[in-house]
Amino acid sequence: MNVPLLDLKAQYATLREEMMPAIEAVMESQWFIGGPNVTKLEEEIALYSQCAKGVGVSSGTDAILASLMVLGIGTGDEVIPTPFTFFATVGCIWRTGAKPVFVDIEPDTYNIDPAKIEAAITDKTKAIIPVHLYGQMADMDPIMEIAAKHNLFVIEDAAQSIGSVYKGRKAGSIGTTGCFSFFPSKNLGCNGDGGMVVTNDEPLASKLSMYRNHGMEPKYFHQEVGGNFRLDAIQAAALLIKLKHLDSWSQGRRDNGAKYNAIFADCPQITTPTIRDYNETIYNQYVIRVPNRDECKAFLIENGIGCDVYYPLSLHQQECFAPLGYKTGDFPVSEQAAKEVIALPVYAELTDEQIQYVGDKVKEFVTK
Ligand SMILES: *Cc1c(COP(=O)(O)O)cnc(C)c1O
Repeated sequence: MNVPLLDLKAQYATLREEMMPAIEAVMESQWFIGGPNVTKLEEEIALYSQCAKGVGVSSGTDAILASLMVLGIGTGDEVIPTPFTFFATVGCIWRTGAKPVFVDIEPDTYNIDPAKIEAAITDKTKAIIPVHLYGQMADMDPIMEIAAKHNLFVIEDAAQSIGSVYKGRKAGSIGTTGCFSFFPSKNLGCNGDGGMVVTNDEPLASKLSMYRNHGMEPKYFHQEVGGNFRLDAIQAAALLIKLKHLDSWSQGRRDNGAKYNAIFADCPQITTPTIRDYNETIYNQYVIRVPNRDECKAFLIENGIGCDVYYPLSLHQQECFAPLGYKTGDFPVSEQAAKEVIALPVYAELTDEQIQYVGDKVKEFVTK
């Protein structure tokens, strides 16, 4: 049997009839950047995310970068992420000239450990970036409390978590800004790169709209140095179609996650995901821990199963961040996770036979 990690062709097969006319309409209009599709998407995503405003941008990375820039974060400032996230979270901090100051994760949710944040705060700290990893939100209440106490911004990296819920509140609606990615492999993916910043701070949203267009307002007059962070109309048109299906896809992923959990229930060698009872995950990834992870990955691939490791090397150990002076052992929870995690296929279109096959093969590996 062949089970890819993600099967976008299976999803597209269900969307083709809606998608092609929408793309063609953009072609006929020849209005490619911004415009009515982008405005409509911003309204719909803001509403969907319980936020006042959405600002379409060119990627999830640019959503984070533009958030940092618009908040005036740069040289001499410090920003707190975890070392267990996709590179972009920390790459953006670095690019503003600010210094990333890492805080380790919780071992079961892989999200930032709120109990460890205050020790990392100095008089230079300007913001915390909680990453809602794999589709589950970080523990936002204590994070917001700490941020209020120390007067810090909170930028939610919700690139993997659009539609995820924490105590009744949607990802992106709690912090100063929330950052979404529409990279094709995310739960809401477009036909290329795209992203959005959401916020309940309306003046900040206006400023973000200016920043995404070189800080230009009015035309050819620049109040600030922004960038080209604009969203394409073709991507917005595609996303307007896909957004209608997002909740059912995320539910399909949760159902598939529950099926794996049941299959693995009698297998103590496998650590299944911990989802806090006040959270609703969207399972952008279904991630387990196994012994001999690299061998397990090779075994699954040999058996036709797509799987991957998010992420094999913590960011404090990356060559490019050597100037920060961290060493192996500084963030043991992240380092351990990097050795043990593996993501299995969880997309909504999976069949029960495929899930059973994947589950059986993982069990076969860990019990042999
Ligand atoms: C995907 C991702 C990003 C970056 O999004 P792009 O759209 O690829 O630029 C940032 N942070 C996390 C946690 C991600 O998973």
